[in-house]
Amino acid sequence: MKNIAILICIPFFIQCSQTIASGSSDKKEVVTNSISKARENNESHHLTLVQKDSIKDFTNLSEATWRKILTEEEFQILRKKGTERAFTGKFNDNKKEGIYVCKGCDTKLFSSNTKFDSGTGWPSFYDKIESNVEEKQDNSYGMQRIEVVCNTCKGHLGHVFNDGPKPTELRYCINSLSLDFKEQ
Ligand SMILES: [Zn+2]
Repeated sequence: MKNIAILICIPFFIQCSQTIASGSSDKKEVVTNSISKARENNESHHLTLVQKDSIKDFTNLSEATWRKILTEEEFQILRKKGTERAFTGKFNDNKKEGIYVCKGCDTKLFSSNTKFDSGTGWPSFYDKIESNVEEKQDNSYGMQRIEVVCNTCKGHLGHVFNDGPKPTELRYCINSLSLDFKEQ
């Protein structure tokens, strides 16, 4: 039995718990509702806070749970393999030192030490952090590309190409919406 504590912000003060079937798993998701401070502040999107620390297996979450963890934009990229428009991502020009982690599950994916300006409009790195990034063949849209996903939650990050700088000559072309940044 795996327990997942999820805090949902809604405009009612109700505490409850419910069990959500997820595939063959008997996973029990404890959902706690409380007054929405976000709603009080008139924030119209992403009213939900999820305690990701308590999730043991990110590969078996329901679409409904992912929608509680991610904003709609993040969901479309990470879970539906979307691509953000070039030069619109918040990390494209980020030059601070730190670690880029998965927006879905907080796994460390890329270091600022390997970030470079590719001119493409997307955050670009010439290397990944160990085996935390998985590479998969992607033949969609009539192209043969290598998709990169988070090895922990399998969320879509972007693609890797072989036209990057030394020493790897790789270019990991990543959506900002797939990432969060921990400054160091
Ligand atoms: Zn992840």
